[in-house]
Amino acid sequence: MGQLRKTGKRRRRGARIALLGAIVAAALLAQPYAKDAWHMLGLQIERLGGPAVSDEAIGLEPSENGPAPGGSAIGDAGGVEASEGADAARADDTRQDDPGEGGQDDPEALGGRGEAEGETGEGGRDDSEALSMSDEAEGEDGEAGEDGGEDGGRAEAEPAGRQWEPVPQPKDYGYREYQDLYPELYASRPAEWSSSDMTVFLTFDDGPTAHTGQALDTLRDKGVKATFFVVGSSVRKLGPEGKDLLNRMVDEGHSLAIHCDVHDYRRIYASVEAFLADFNAAYELIYEATGVHADIYRFPGGSVNSFNGPVRDELIGEMERRGFTYYDWNLTAGDSSPNLTADSAYSNAVSKAGRKSRIILLMHDTKKQTVKALPRIIDRYRELGYSFECLTNEDKPITL
Ligand SMILES: [Zn+2]
Repeated sequence: MGQLRKTGKRRRRGARIALLGAIVAAALLAQPYAKDAWHMLGLQIERLGGPAVSDEAIGLEPSENGPAPGGSAIGDAGGVEASEGADAARADDTRQDDPGEGGQDDPEALGGRGEAEGETGEGGRDDSEALSMSDEAEGEDGEAGEDGGEDGGRAEAEPAGRQWEPVPQPKDYGYREYQDLYPELYASRPAEWSSSDMTVFLTFDDGPTAHTGQALDTLRDKGVKATFFVVGSSVRKLGPEGKDLLNRMVDEGHSLAIHCDVHDYRRIYASVEAFLADFNAAYELIYEATGVHADIYRFPGGSVNSFNGPVRDELIGEMERRGFTYYDWNLTAGDSSPNLTADSAYSNAVSKAGRKSRIILLMHDTKKQTVKALPRIIDRYRELGYSFECLTNEDKPITL
């Protein structure tokens, strides 16, 4: 009986693997729907006993996978089932490796899905909800924030309802040899984190690129501060202009944060040591260019992804031990979609506006259409009474 059950299980497992394969194939054939396929793939992986990936993470992760600069450099052949889908998705996106250079913006004329995280049509339709909502993701009671932070930025008047709470101690994994690596790679972890209602953090990943200057122009014109999760290879690709853009971010009051040096999931997540090596390279590049010791970061692919399962907890523990704080997101502009338009970037980016009190919005300054939509995105949040802030390590993280 046990044997039978086992066989049955194996059959079901086989069927699921076949289904998984079909989904990957479908994803390749139907690029516009790749994100959905990704989502289904993630669910299948989870059922197969693969890495437990949260529903939200699966929905969001392709946004991160998409514009992966450097992704094409990984010549993966085969690999475990759980990774193949991701490799395939990435292979599809290799044209996005050179933001601003390639034709990745060209096929974007078709309508976007207008959907972020499977919440089509729910987005931000009711302004009146803006001032009395509760934040479903974080259990924050949404007292109304005022719009005192019109110009955003920490130097502005504090938004009402700011709350502070103790920062938890990092989990102690005991001594590991990698703790001795990069003795300069430490940040000062604050004692308390703050959070306030009606706040939106605009965040840009994967740049700087040829589109970043325009994003900075918009932010300056609108008086809004944002956070840039920088990729070292993107900086190098731009030559001297790359460092100029980093300095402009600093000079104009934005937060400089680390994304990675080379956006190569397999390499970065191969081990804690590998992650540290990549992180340190980006950390040093930013410091040498700007004099800023970045102390916040965002994991490529988000903190929950198909590549970091075996090292995730230890990695987070080590980074916390060193004082660095990571930030995921709870809303995305969905701007890795091959069908991205400025309209779809806009509708995705404001899809929770008015329904969620504290938003970390994931966008990519690798995307012309996102940058094009930025003024409207800012106007919409402002209209609903949100304050704009840039992330510092005193802001309570939102994690997947
Ligand atoms: Zn990224």
